[in-house]
Amino acid sequence: MSAAPLCLLQVHAHPDDESSKGACTAARYAAEGVRNVLVCCTGGEEGDILNPAMENDEVRANLIEVRKAELEAAVKIIGYEAVHLLGYRDSGMAGTPANEDPENFANADPDEAVARLVAVIRRERPQVVITYGEDQSRYPHPDHLQVHTITLPAYNLAGDFGYRPELGRPWRPSKLYYSHGFSRRRVLAQHEWFLDQGMESPFASWVEKIPEDLDISVTTRVDVSDWLDVGRDALRAHRTQVDPEGHWFRMPTVALRGAHPWEEYQLARTSVGTGPVDEDGLEHDLFGGLR
Ligand SMILES: [Zn+2]
Repeated sequence: MSAAPLCLLQVHAHPDDESSKGACTAARYAAEGVRNVLVCCTGGEEGDILNPAMENDEVRANLIEVRKAELEAAVKIIGYEAVHLLGYRDSGMAGTPANEDPENFANADPDEAVARLVAVIRRERPQVVITYGEDQSRYPHPDHLQVHTITLPAYNLAGDFGYRPELGRPWRPSKLYYSHGFSRRRVLAQHEWFLDQGMESPFASWVEKIPEDLDISVTTRVDVSDWLDVGRDALRAHRTQVDPEGHWFRMPTVALRGAHPWEEYQLARTSVGTGPVDEDGLEHDLFGGLR
């Protein structure tokens, strides 16, 4: 049993990633009294304005500030108690000019970036850390790849007494998860719903490409039935990035709850085993083994 207060730390690349991935999980744990901590590695400077209603000169001229305010609104909705901006610039997609900027996250000195994350882990002392997985071939954004690249050594080094003592008292987290985002099960469940309604499915092109064995790596599924609205509200708070009239919101929460009320993860490292597993071998609590 762990005596320290429970803390969940998620590492995300851009403002809005915290709302599209793991938001409902964070909201659920917040309701249980777990402290949620967000690390956001970049300012999202390269994000386009994806909501036509927000496309104007004023927003465009102040995009950095606007996105910061959107992030503040979203984290309040989700229930994050602390937000750490790692301070890097958005790297943009591969091949764009932003990708060459030495200030961007993808070009960061890896040792420096790892050290910044270790300092946050030592300060916040999370038992559980969530990051992005190894295989990001479906969305290979350089910043998302870098999140994975720096989290692994930071996770290992945070508890290492020999590593950079000036960064704080060593702290060894107990479990590391990779966020699974859109599993095959989740995509198919939502796709079918759209077809059943006689509506055009926004997932149609995904279904063709999604690997048959994508879900093999899912080890853990968190029931977020009661927090699905939180995730959606948080996403809508990113008004420049999300069109509230977009097809993503056409599936009502009640339908989502019936189709696939889970957020899924892959347990990548653990020093406490897993929590109880169901008949499919799936764990249901990120803090399983810790309480
Ligand atoms: Zn992102």
